[in-house]
Amino acid sequence: MSCIVEIALSCPLRQTFDYLSDDLAENWQTGMRVSVPFGSRQLIGIVIAIKSISEQTISKLKKIDQKLDHQAFLPNEIMQLVQWVSRYYHHPIGECFQAALPKRLRLGDADEMQMETYWSLAQPTNTKPGKKQQHILNLLEDYPEGLSEKALRTQLGNVKSSLSALQAQNSIKASQKVALPLPCLTIQQAVALNNEQKQAVEIVLSRTGEFSTFLLQGITGSGKTEVYIEICRELIEKQQQILVLIPEIGLTTQFVERFRQSLNARIVVIHSAVSDTDRKQAWLLSRAAKADIIIGTRSAVFTPMLNPSLIIIDEEHDSSYKQQDGLRYHARNVALMRAKTLGIPIVLGSATPSLETLYQVKQQRYQLLKLTQRAGGANLPAVRVIAGQNASDNNGLSSHLIKAIKKHIEQNHQVLLFINRRGFAPVLMCHQCHWQANCRSCDAKMVVHQYQNRLFCHHCGLIQTLPTKCPECGHPELKSYGVGTEKIEQALTGIFPDVPVLRIDRDSTQRVNAFANMIKQINQGKAAILVGTQMLAKGHDFHDVTLVGVVDADQALFSADFRATESLAQLITQVTGRAGRGKKAGEVLIQTEQPDHPFWQNLLQKGYEAVADNLLSERIQMELPPHGFWAVWRGEAKEADLAMQLLQQIAELLQQTASSVVILGPVPALMEKRAGRYRAQLLMRSADRAALHQLIDQHILSVTKLKLARKVRWSIDIDPTELI
Ligand code: ADP
Ligand code: ZN
Ligand code: ZN
Repeated sequence: MSCIVEIALSCPLRQTFDYLSDDLAENWQTGMRVSVPFGSRQLIGIVIAIKSISEQTISKLKKIDQKLDHQAFLPNEIMQLVQWVSRYYHHPIGECFQAALPKRLRLGDADEMQMETYWSLAQPTNTKPGKKQQHILNLLEDYPEGLSEKALRTQLGNVKSSLSALQAQNSIKASQKVALPLPCLTIQQAVALNNEQKQAVEIVLSRTGEFSTFLLQGITGSGKTEVYIEICRELIEKQQQILVLIPEIGLTTQFVERFRQSLNARIVVIHSAVSDTDRKQAWLLSRAAKADIIIGTRSAVFTPMLNPSLIIIDEEHDSSYKQQDGLRYHARNVALMRAKTLGIPIVLGSATPSLETLYQVKQQRYQLLKLTQRAGGANLPAVRVIAGQNASDNNGLSSHLIKAIKKHIEQNHQVLLFINRRGFAPVLMCHQCHWQANCRSCDAKMVVHQYQNRLFCHHCGLIQTLPTKCPECGHPELKSYGVGTEKIEQALTGIFPDVPVLRIDRDSTQRVNAFANMIKQINQGKAAILVGTQMLAKGHDFHDVTLVGVVDADQALFSADFRATESLAQLITQVTGRAGRGKKAGEVLIQTEQPDHPFWQNLLQKGYEAVADNLLSERIQMELPPHGFWAVWRGEAKEADLAMQLLQQIAELLQQTASSVVILGPVPALMEKRAGRYRAQLLMRSADRAALHQLIDQHILSVTKLKLARKVRWSIDIDPTELI
């Protein structure tokens, strides 16, 4: 008896596909992987359903080539989650599975965990062991379950010959076991939590086993991470698993190390810098409950767990939780859905919560847990705004800022200067004829990168050699305007020739480990002045930094994006949190052309919460998210106007049945041309989430059938976070 198997395949078509199987229906399970012919290709798909009837003509159905799994590979919970994601984000189901799976498993690797040699004590020996042998025996005594050869090597160096000798005497024995993450052999003592921290831990733990959402709002350095760790400690003892999401930035090492050093737990890490093999192993370990804590970036939200008990989202406001291409999901949103389905609590942590989350707190849907003091007795730094008017004489640094840097350096402290633009300068211009270096593929200027002697477009990646004379009029002198990290670095090296200056941005950290090495260098107190982009703003704990300077903070105040002010307030609050984390008092100087702008007065006098509160009222009044629901259709095409035309047709389709949904546009994107394509967008807005989604569902198939839809690259973005 054959059966029909419905399969999700990774292709842009918004449908699943039926295939024939010679196997009995009872030998199939949803969540298995299969290899099937698709056109001229061979694809790997996921079994969605097993059926006896197909809507397609049976005689036309192709046969499944190969079953890759003998049992369900994806647990039911993940199957449901991915299908929900596909519906909610209106994204092809096959591509959603693609996004949810680690690469190697997606490509058909066997559902098998990696094995490793583990050593454990056998019988006591009469022979006196050598020094290294004794070390090994001591360590193994502490680990009755055994230690992997890798763990022993990491701890004691080359152990091969000692192990062989011990084995020959029968004092130790080897066995093959599933490869677990390296344990940390020296666990630090837990810190004593303060009352606020204790309370937060207790409240969350009192709600295990039920869905509830918490916002852990604590100023930078108030000990949120310590709260996560203590909650995990309790849950791990009950053999429960915890998923911890962190933003997509270079600070994973520091964060993971704190967990590893505090908890006797099997911790796996899933992010882009982890090898494909290790990611696969982490995923499989988690599914089998052989990992206790799963720490990962955005896509780790899809990691299956056998005994899930809690989800933590650190820095929940961070924009990297939203994927901006392909499946445009928000990991926080998916995590919330997952926690709800699983019936487990979820903790969102931040010093500067997103307006979305604050709105939910106001509606009493999320419970607020507050940490109001800096842990360990450190004080928040004094923050001042200084005028940047004369700054251009010193390559972007005002004399006030330079004086302050000098003072802190003389006290042998570190200084952190923050500027949110890499490169040397954002504008290159000819004074004679006013020529400007513009990107030929984008409506944008080329950025001067002096060290590489190049012009870069930060939007499309176009690279040109830095011209030595004006390409228009031949004038030999071209001038650059504005500042970037390179210019600040150069200026500082000139002003403080004896002080080491370390630049930390995407250009200086391209090599593997470069970022980690720099962080190490900083923590060893080697560098005195650190110049960096937002890579430096987040989460790092630099104990010797006493002065933080923010250079050129103004851009966002005049941005067209309605979220720009929110992001600026978050960024400034995060950056200022980098000062005075240790025992020494900190100071923050914000250099701005607009020292009297009310934004600064509000932020500095009343703090992030007050600013966020104001912004939220504004948004509610103007019916902007998080009040009401938005979706954006985007189009881009090489030929001008095509995207606008397609979106116009979509708008007309939608208008037919849009009763409680407002359709706005289409309009050209703010930067209309990017990477050689002309872009446009069409906005949908509604107070009724279901109505918005229904309207999209009603028309999306017709949209795919529009002729122009084949010429224009188009997408739909639910709950967009960027509108420029
Ligand atoms: P956050 O995650 O809120 O920025 P952290 O958890 O990183 O804060 O804590 C900041 C610093 O304070 C860390 O060095 C941490 O070890 C320390 N710390 C946290 N809680 C306590 C506590 N209860 N007692 C002493 N030190 C603490
Ligand atoms: Zn010129
Ligand atoms: Zn460009």
